[in-house]
Amino acid sequence: MALVVQKYGGTSVGSVERIQAVAQRIYKNVRQGNSLVVVVSAMGKSTDTLVNLAQQISSNPSRREMDMLLSTGEQVSIALLSMALQELGQPAISLTGAQVGIVTEAAHSRARILEIDTKRLEKNLNEGKVVVVAGFQGVASSQDLEITTLGRGGSDTSAVALAASLKANRCEIYTDVPGILTTDPRLVPEAQLMPEITADEMLELASLGAKVLHPRAVEIARNFGMPLVVLSSWSDEPGTKVTSPNPQPRSLKNLEITKVVDGVEIDTNQSKVALLRIPDCPGVAANLFNAIAEQQVDVDLIIQSIHEANTNDIAFTVTKDALQQAEAVAHAIAPAFRSNPKSTEEAEVMIDNQIAKIAISGAGMIGRPGIAAQMFRTLAKAGVNIQMISTSEVKVSCVIDQGQCDLASEVLCEAFEIASSTLPIINHDIASDVPAVRGVALDRDQARLAIVNVPDNPGMAAQIFGLLADKNISVDTIIQSQRSRIINDVATRDIAFTVAQDDAQIAAVVLRELAKNIGCGEITVDTAIAKVSIVGARMVGNPGVAAQFFSALAAAKINIQMITTSEIKISCVVAEEHGVQALQSVHNAFELSNVSS
Ligand code: ADP
Ligand code: ASP
Ligand code: MG
Repeated sequence: MALVVQKYGGTSVGSVERIQAVAQRIYKNVRQGNSLVVVVSAMGKSTDTLVNLAQQISSNPSRREMDMLLSTGEQVSIALLSMALQELGQPAISLTGAQVGIVTEAAHSRARILEIDTKRLEKNLNEGKVVVVAGFQGVASSQDLEITTLGRGGSDTSAVALAASLKANRCEIYTDVPGILTTDPRLVPEAQLMPEITADEMLELASLGAKVLHPRAVEIARNFGMPLVVLSSWSDEPGTKVTSPNPQPRSLKNLEITKVVDGVEIDTNQSKVALLRIPDCPGVAANLFNAIAEQQVDVDLIIQSIHEANTNDIAFTVTKDALQQAEAVAHAIAPAFRSNPKSTEEAEVMIDNQIAKIAISGAGMIGRPGIAAQMFRTLAKAGVNIQMISTSEVKVSCVIDQGQCDLASEVLCEAFEIASSTLPIINHDIASDVPAVRGVALDRDQARLAIVNVPDNPGMAAQIFGLLADKNISVDTIIQSQRSRIINDVATRDIAFTVAQDDAQIAAVVLRELAKNIGCGEITVDTAIAKVSIVGARMVGNPGVAAQFFSALAAAKINIQMITTSEIKISCVVAEEHGVQALQSVHNAFELSNVSS
């Protein structure tokens, strides 16, 4: 007999008929000998309807009252599902987050789960009941029963947290698609089902816009090694397994407040190549990285910064032994890149062999903007200047001067309580027949902010991102320009980054204030952007993946505004109007409609 936690999303319980169909499925499962805890979301789009009601009353409602309001949606569906089960003769009981004892932080609208008291659940399970639990909600403390919610889409997180706390055999997430697909089938109908995906890949996909799973749910499954499956509530197909490495034993106390940083990685075997003043038009990145890929050179970090007077800078890193080849390609291609067809000024190639890459990694960083800021602050305090920054949901990498590598490693290990730094950890266990690119995602809810003329001193990134972290604004795709510009005898650089659209205005207000104090230039905000990303754990060691991505965009005549990479993903910012077309072109270019693995 297995103990299984099942979760049904909004569409799966969107009508009385659907609730009855779900009850039938649960009933059959119990008959097969399983004990079930069932987590449900609010019916259909009812959470959106509640949000809409609140907006009609207030443009800025209190987070506490929003939690009070939104948590009611799930209370409806748990009661109805329990009734439907009882109608079938299946004993069942519905419980709210508070009744179960899902204790969270006191952070309204984005609370993390601290601990789940499983006594009441176990008692009911032992009595042969199916326990139907309201997803997405908890209480801030067991004394004052202050209702909290986990953030939109949070029922997935409730389910996996319950499974981990109950030490269930597995957690099944039932939804309106057959499982995890190569991309969103609403945007690309040819998207294919993946029978399996690693938790690391899913973590990136989920945080880059694939909302089929809440990233925090994937994080918990990965941390506790909880078998996780995503499948359709309409069929009996097996769905997609999310696989996790064997976890270290960890406590169920402070369940989601894990150690945020698991490792500090240093890589001194890197060199930087930058091309300055290349034209800002489709095809440029594609040409460059195609030429590099033809030499079989694997590129690690790639960043492309915001443009200035119709030109861009692209910088990338390669291993030291590949620098000569990469440099030769850059010099060979530079004359072709004239910023203005009539001018004789060609792109400038800049090489730096004295760099090191230092990164902090850990799934606990998700949604905690303070961690990147703490890294920048720690480096600044030690006098370490950051040359390039590249971020993913689970990693922040900085390129620094090689001479400062030991110092940087020491201060970061101390700040994040890591015993010692390691070389980059690359997961080689993935079967070689798995495609390099597993999935593509589109995020249309981002905005880009840029600050021009930031003094090029240690501490600037720390101040900027520290301030945003104080406002709980998560930042993604941080890019510093390669060129420095001298303003009033001070070397300055531009910094651009993306944030959630909802946070853009407040981020701009905070930064305008800062800009006045530290003497930066203008702050610009662009909400008409979209981010297209490719994800795959086998991208490392596959030269040409980046080139293929950029070529697909070039062929669709889509201009790339920003590029950022991590080991397992590459993201490009494009104009919002091109987002869907970009996603479709890239999905096509990697032949994801044809894969079966
Ligand atoms: P639920 O209500 O069951 O939680 P969601 O709407 O949160 O469902 O998530 C399921 C939706 O996620 C699908 O209908 C699909 O449109 C979207 N989606 C986005 N990316 C993917 C992907 N890579 N694979 C599957 N579904 C995806
Ligand atoms: N009902 C909540 C939402 O719509 C939680 C969930 O469905 O996961 O965000
Ligand atoms: Mg969902």
